[in-house]
Amino acid sequence: MDTALRNAGVKYECLLFDMDDTLYPLSIGLNLFCRKNIQEYMLEHLHIEENEVPKMCLDLYREYGTTMAGLKVLGYEFDNDEFHAYVHGRLPYEKLKPDPVLRNLLISMPQRKIIFTNADHAHAVKVLNRMGLEDCFEGIICFETLNPHKQYMDLPNDNHVLTDIAESGCFNSHTRILCKPSVEAFEAAIRTSNVDPKKTIFFDDSVRNVASAKVAGLHTVILGHSDLVPGADHALNSIHNIKEALPEIWEIEESNQQQKIQPPAVETMVLA
Ligand SMILES: [Mg+2]
Repeated sequence: MDTALRNAGVKYECLLFDMDDTLYPLSIGLNLFCRKNIQEYMLEHLHIEENEVPKMCLDLYREYGTTMAGLKVLGYEFDNDEFHAYVHGRLPYEKLKPDPVLRNLLISMPQRKIIFTNADHAHAVKVLNRMGLEDCFEGIICFETLNPHKQYMDLPNDNHVLTDIAESGCFNSHTRILCKPSVEAFEAAIRTSNVDPKKTIFFDDSVRNVASAKVAGLHTVILGHSDLVPGADHALNSIHNIKEALPEIWEIEESNQQQKIQPPAVETMVLA
């Protein structure tokens, strides 16, 4: 937390946002195009039987966090960048429109704001650009952040973090993709962004991601839901309702209000 924020006495220091189906509504349907592209990739590039593809796609997503992570665990060899280009590069991004309401909300929040997505960097940048939100976040934690090239090459056995990842059951010795909802992915995101989880709110439309975020010690908000789910502190139908549901994002802690209201003496002198 920077000194200015700490002095301002805000309750939370950082807001960590999932992107897809969180910053824009699920009803846009981008996820359906994404799934179709993944299934086409499995068919055309990995030569998986057509009648097996839909169920396998879903099963791997459920078991390993992303279908891609599951395919790697099963031993399929393919280039990560090529996969992302095929799956995300062909999405109908024109369905995403600028969202000035969300932009103004984000700009008015005094906290650090960071994207945390399982998607690749190019996709994240395209989505944010289409929505007019490209300058609203200080950073993007994405596939490449959690899976730098060296991470899925040979690794020393005494690396404790990577040993833990292997023991989680999501990864094997040959291919390890770190992604939500593994708690290790959240811990890595917390380390990367250098935030205090107790002073950070995480927003996601995925029930299982929210559950893992809670285990990692974050405050949590489930998007696209009217009711709370396990591990969620708040439920929001739309990110546009954030101010009504979480006014504390904008609130100054009581003990600091007086200090905040009183302008520093030096400023008074300058103004005079
Ligand atoms: Mg999402």
